[in-house]
Amino acid sequence: MEYISTRGIAPKVSAAMAIKEGIAPDGGLYVPESLPTLTLGDITVMTDMSYNERAVRILSRFLTDFTEDEIESCVNLAYTREKFDSANVAPLYELNDKAYLCELWHGPTCAFKDMALQLLPHLLTTSIRKTGEDKTVLILVATSGDTGKAALEGFKDVNGTKIMVFYPSEGVSHIQKLQMMTQAGGNVNVCGIEGNFDDAQTGVKTIFGDAEFAKKAAEKGVVLSSANSINWGRLVPQIVYYISSYCDLVKYNKIALGELVNFVVPTGNFGNILAAYYAYKMGLPVNKLICASNINNVLTEFFDTGRYNKKRTFHATMSPSMDILISSNLERLLFDISGDSADVREFMKKLSTDGEYTIPQELSEKISGLFCADYCDEQETAAAIADIYENYSYVCDTHTAVACGVYKKYAEKTGDATKTVIASTASPYKFPHSVLTALNCENVAELGDFEALDTLAGKAMSDIPTALSKLKNADVRFDAVCKKQDMAQQVMAFIEK
Ligand SMILES: *Cc1c(COP(=O)(O)O)cnc(C)c1O
Repeated sequence: MEYISTRGIAPKVSAAMAIKEGIAPDGGLYVPESLPTLTLGDITVMTDMSYNERAVRILSRFLTDFTEDEIESCVNLAYTREKFDSANVAPLYELNDKAYLCELWHGPTCAFKDMALQLLPHLLTTSIRKTGEDKTVLILVATSGDTGKAALEGFKDVNGTKIMVFYPSEGVSHIQKLQMMTQAGGNVNVCGIEGNFDDAQTGVKTIFGDAEFAKKAAEKGVVLSSANSINWGRLVPQIVYYISSYCDLVKYNKIALGELVNFVVPTGNFGNILAAYYAYKMGLPVNKLICASNINNVLTEFFDTGRYNKKRTFHATMSPSMDILISSNLERLLFDISGDSADVREFMKKLSTDGEYTIPQELSEKISGLFCADYCDEQETAAAIADIYENYSYVCDTHTAVACGVYKKYAEKTGDATKTVIASTASPYKFPHSVLTALNCENVAELGDFEALDTLAGKAMSDIPTALSKLKNADVRFDAVCKKQDMAQQVMAFIEK
């Protein structure tokens, strides 16, 4: 299977090349030329498999230039019991007879990014080998909080790679910041920027698009790649858990084989829900894909009206990993529904020059039956956390709460009783102050990070993940903050180090 660029100008490449390059040379995103099909027979076969076996099966349909052994070895290095504190890797939690949370945060950094970023380094090093690359691959990451740490953990001390992460200095939670500033590993670097996530992402994209920079880096034996969800190697592991959660629902007799389900996904860069869309296109029985946003609700408007308009106030919310106004992966959806890279080039050009674009009605109509979208403001997000706690004695994080709040509104509005899987994207322990405030605890602002974790453990009656409790005694290694226009210079200094 070959991969093509959404902008239509770059040549076709193998999966290994697509993963190694991260972004296509024409600025577009790589997508498979056609999607493999998933039959109910395939689902039946996978029902009795472990998560890792399911992953090998699904990935091998996409990474056709990898051998089955290569894929198996990557998967088994990624999803281990040492790194994931659940044997199921992505277990379902039954809230009630209609709604299930798919817990995607049992990995080493307590957010769903681990699902892809534990696997990507192995896919990437395999790709480097397969394409005969001899340079060091430098991974550049812009993060809204969770990707950065997950990428650092995934790539730390992986041979043949270096990694540098930029995060908005004031735009992530204190725990998230600590996680990154204390990162271990000999090949890592972390830098805050004065700006928001979109500034960080734009800065990284500019470096990727800078031929002069690439040349200089190559002279020093370094080639750049991306671990953001623009890299196909980030997306493909995410397709697995949608199919796997469906298999689990069948396995535990919660649904009949072939029964349609809904997925609700708390969305920022549109990577996670796009993976659900690809699973649907392969043949997974899906009724609705529900795109849940926080008050940065650019996608809600897009799905309601066909207009994508980033010219709006940027809000820093309690679900910071969704504080995004430019959802990069939407480009892949646009390409899929339009099928015409000239359209995509036009939309993306309008987005960068006018800050907005509107897709023609016939394109909107293609997805209006499948997608629906809504958002929760801060108050509704907090109310959702309290509501889930009161009804189910379950503590969810702020991002998952956005999805739960949107699902509740959706179910009330439509009366849809279809079985629904809500993507639960982070552990509540990553955002203890916001969660405790939502649970009406008193004097939360006065609690230090680790007091807040202890208080939350009392409420949730569960253990603090060790990855977070051990931050208490970890040394800060990276406390630099730079201006957004100085990012390239920082990267070059790291290359030369
Ligand atoms: C990244 C992230 C999201 C958003 O996922 P996208 O793929 O960017 O849409 C939601 N929740 C959490 C906790 C995240 O880390």
